[in-house]
Amino acid sequence: MSKEILINVIDPALAELAEGGVRVTDAARGMLYAAGLQESNLTARFQAMPASSAVRKGEGRGLWQMRVDDVNRVLVGGSTRARAETAANGYAGSVNPHAVWATLEYDDILAAIFARLMLWPDPAALPEPTGANERGAWDYYVRCWRPAPPRQQDWTANWRAAVEAVGGQAAPSTPSPTAPVVNVAVSTSNGRRGLSVLHPQIRGKAERLMELCRENGLPILITETLRTKAEQDALFAQGRTAPGNIVTNAEYPRSAHCWGVAFDFCRNVRGREFDNGDRFFDSVGALGKSVGLFWGGDFKSFKDLPHFEDTEFMVNNSVNTLISRWGTPEKFMAGWTV
Ligand SMILES: [Zn+2]
Repeated sequence: MSKEILINVIDPALAELAEGGVRVTDAARGMLYAAGLQESNLTARFQAMPASSAVRKGEGRGLWQMRVDDVNRVLVGGSTRARAETAANGYAGSVNPHAVWATLEYDDILAAIFARLMLWPDPAALPEPTGANERGAWDYYVRCWRPAPPRQQDWTANWRAAVEAVGGQAAPSTPSPTAPVVNVAVSTSNGRRGLSVLHPQIRGKAERLMELCRENGLPILITETLRTKAEQDALFAQGRTAPGNIVTNAEYPRSAHCWGVAFDFCRNVRGREFDNGDRFFDSVGALGKSVGLFWGGDFKSFKDLPHFEDTEFMVNNSVNTLISRWGTPEKFMAGWTV
């Protein structure tokens, strides 16, 4: 339920900003909740692209669907820079906008901190979460997010849900130490949080690949690793029971990502994340193959250039091998030695 996002993500993020002097208000909680619903239904952590696109993910990342430019604006803005840099260093281990952008896809609290800072430069007071403020809140959201297209028809329901969620759940004066936390970084260096949840064998190969890419001047960022059931379900629903185009035929757990034996990457260069004009992805693919990875560019049907997987676990790239041997990802993971 998206209300959990208020308690487990928005409130901890605001509590962290409160240490830097940003007052926690119901107005901020309500606006973040409504903007998150508007951007991702507080569910999708990346912008899904149509099946005809060469890439699966668009530029919007995290529950507030921020683009690299949004992240950069927060990082360089006079009124937001100091707080943004503190969070960026703490969660992404870097103030590089690409590193932050890639990390907030996996880290909801970092995403919420940056979303709060997106609202910061607006000189108007944040609207209180009341029904009467629906239109004012919409204008505020549009000024800060610059959504395209804006989809105002969804706002009434989203603002109403925010008013209800904030009204029914008082802000904690201090963050509860026992509150479960969603998607918190377990490592602070660039790209490593994602790797840490992979099977140790593919993790080792990914680390060697990153080293080789550094040596060869190919800047990459790991953008996706393990996919949870909720994430795969949301992805599978797209174009079926949820809006958008079909982006996958893999129902949980029929994707290598669900088993922690696959990862995706992009080029760590602003504006060229998925540019293969110079065969960047082929070069990285070749390096990956040299360390024993299977590259998605070698798939026979749908070429998935930003994807690697470890076929030692899957005969003919088939997840059936994993399913017939282990049954579920949980049972597979229980046997991993770190
Ligand atoms: Zn992939």
